[in-house]
Amino acid sequence: MSEFDPRNTNEGKDKDLDGIIRPQELVDFTGQGEIVSNLRVYIKAALLRGEALDHTLFHGPPGLGKTTLAHIIANEMGVNMKVTSGPVLDRPGDLAGLLTSLDKGDVLFIDEIHRLSPEVEEYLYSAMEDYVIDIMIDKGPGARSVRISLNPFTLVGATTRSGLLTAPLRERFGITCALEYYDTEELIKIVCRSASILNIEIEDSAAREIALRSRGTPRIANGLLRRVRDFAQVMGDGHIDLGIAKYALDKLKIDTRGLDSIDNKILRTIINNFKGGPVGANTIATAIGEDQGTFEEVYEPFLIKEGFIVRTQRGRIATELSYRHLGLTKEDTDQTLF
Ligand code: ADP
Repeated sequence: MSEFDPRNTNEGKDKDLDGIIRPQELVDFTGQGEIVSNLRVYIKAALLRGEALDHTLFHGPPGLGKTTLAHIIANEMGVNMKVTSGPVLDRPGDLAGLLTSLDKGDVLFIDEIHRLSPEVEEYLYSAMEDYVIDIMIDKGPGARSVRISLNPFTLVGATTRSGLLTAPLRERFGITCALEYYDTEELIKIVCRSASILNIEIEDSAAREIALRSRGTPRIANGLLRRVRDFAQVMGDGHIDLGIAKYALDKLKIDTRGLDSIDNKILRTIINNFKGGPVGANTIATAIGEDQGTFEEVYEPFLIKEGFIVRTQRGRIATELSYRHLGLTKEDTDQTLF
């Protein structure tokens, strides 16, 4: 994709920077107040008892801090973490290898846990519940299963789509946390913290402008900060003031409500092609050239939260706010359609 995609700021050099600005401890983690204060209690209690933390599931849209919290849990518990993801673990043997390599109390982080294959998932059940796995040895008539004990460990799962988790898997998590979008003040804190780590000079008003246009998402806020810094360095002396922030964000096609070109395309598609809805998610996704899962996980939740679209049984409907946002009225679009 040649166009700037603020959600995709996790590659190459940016990924290295990501490691530097990722909060390492709960005190550095801004927002998600209730989750953080509960985790603090659970971690302290587990440490006092000398036990592994209960299996923990984080769910919510991408970029809100699920992976970061998994790292923080391992840090605060003073244990190591192994990282994998649902689509990567395609054979039970891969999972067995990982599980048997865990030391007492270690964290196994499985990203996109909703994408585990059913065989691997079933394997996890006994590992999570009783810290044992049954491994098949040999093939054919001599095949037999051997039970192996594991060290007590903590499985941290992350998913953007908790609805796709099977009930038996969901029930095996003792702690479940739903991450919410961040408010502007929290995002300002995150932008200022990242700027100070990266030695970027930024005015408060510019940090606010970036926060306002970050779709409630720290990953996007950090990504925009880095891109705005590029403009500030090339067009000025690197110092980010409100003028340069606004200029850069406009160039990046992030509008004043934080919607980018794809968000706007979604609203325009619903209004212009489908008379404002109702229209099914699959149809919208096809019209904008994305798959339905990405539309439902990445784009739609923020548009719903901000009141641009509503989800009904018959499909998605563009609200009055969407029409106003695009400078349209329902009457205009009705006339152009007939
Ligand atoms: P997810 O796993 O939910 O997709 P990540 O944990 O990878 O999201 O977070 C994306 C980036 O946003 C991280 O690099 C981290 O630096 C930053 N981030 C996320 N949440 C916070 C937070 N609460 N405070 C500060 N930075 C955050």
